[in-house]
Amino acid sequence: MDAERAFRNSQPVAPPLYTSSVFALPDLDALERISDGIEPGYMYARDKHPNAELLSNELRQMHGSQWCSLAASGMGALAATMLALLKNGDRVVASDQLYGRTSQLLGQELRRFDIATQWVDSSNLDEVRASLRQPAKVLLVETISNPLLRVANIPALAEIAHGNGCLLIADNTFATPVLFQPLKHGADLAVESLTKMIGGHSDLTLGATLGQDSDLHKRLTSVTTIWGMSASPFDCWQATRSLATVKLRVHAAVANAARLAEWLKSHPKIIRTIYPGLSDHPDRALASRLFAGSPGNIICAELAGGREAVNQFMRKVQGIPFCPSLGDSRTTCSYPFGTSHRYVESAEKSRLGITDGLIRLSIGIEPFEEIHGELEKGLAN
Ligand SMILES: *Cc1c(COP(=O)(O)O)cnc(C)c1O
Repeated sequence: MDAERAFRNSQPVAPPLYTSSVFALPDLDALERISDGIEPGYMYARDKHPNAELLSNELRQMHGSQWCSLAASGMGALAATMLALLKNGDRVVASDQLYGRTSQLLGQELRRFDIATQWVDSSNLDEVRASLRQPAKVLLVETISNPLLRVANIPALAEIAHGNGCLLIADNTFATPVLFQPLKHGADLAVESLTKMIGGHSDLTLGATLGQDSDLHKRLTSVTTIWGMSASPFDCWQATRSLATVKLRVHAAVANAARLAEWLKSHPKIIRTIYPGLSDHPDRALASRLFAGSPGNIICAELAGGREAVNQFMRKVQGIPFCPSLGDSRTTCSYPFGTSHRYVESAEKSRLGITDGLIRLSIGIEPFEEIHGELEKGLAN
């Protein structure tokens, strides 16, 4: 009683975490009003819960979208989106440089439902145009691809897709809504893995789909709840907290990455540096135009000496964890040849330029000198 009154008089500043899986209703009239969407309310956490709603609202604002639908992971968001849009016999056109699990979602899982995928080089607009002469429901690309960091020309791709009655989906995980909002540039749907930079502390697993079309929102909500892909309250609560610092983190990490890329490029032990802010990157101008001069925080670098050089580098850089993820506040290092592209055929790996000397650095927000010092240690004789 006293607690109830206390809460009426004073509200918590930090959003509470509601772990309740179910909510009690006062009567049947309330049940009808909430079920019909006349009144806001909660009933069952798999359908809807306060922490998901709070996070969705914030993400919606960042993307400038009508709605945001959360899922238990980035893959959950992609799977739910595909299941909401596609049925057997449908056709998808997808970039040939997608996150490994996304390629498997299309090439292995959706294929079992007789949904075919055609892979294209999405940087080649003529190739995309040609692939869409045959009807397709969805064109799927990543705003910034892994590990070559190719930037998708979202405005041009949207125009091509729409001219052929096709929807454009942009997986925006590497860019984050801080650098780019795909819906404002013509994409129909944006997908984010919040596990990465938006979460930013390697302590949550979540995904989101954002869009404008309300019918599609209804479809996606059904799919997420019926197939059981909903996001957990705790992870939503963590992610909401992360949003307080995401802009600062992204800008600090990009500033570090831009300086480090220039330095790595001129380092004698590095054969090749890939970063969309470098003058030799094929998408430098596009990245600058789309991301307002902020080319992201991921750098790929090829070490002279192949696998053994990478092994020694990893042993020497104690301050940079080797882990197959990205977007942590700390700088981390990954190895595309052995992790994300492990099961890609070797001919395809060499075509993509994924060699056994290539490392991927997700640059963090440490003081520049700290990261620089660690990398210097790793590259020393
Ligand atoms: C990590 C990642 C995903 C999958 O997200 P999870 O939260 O790990 O399921 C999808 N797309 C891209 C580009 C990613 O980096």
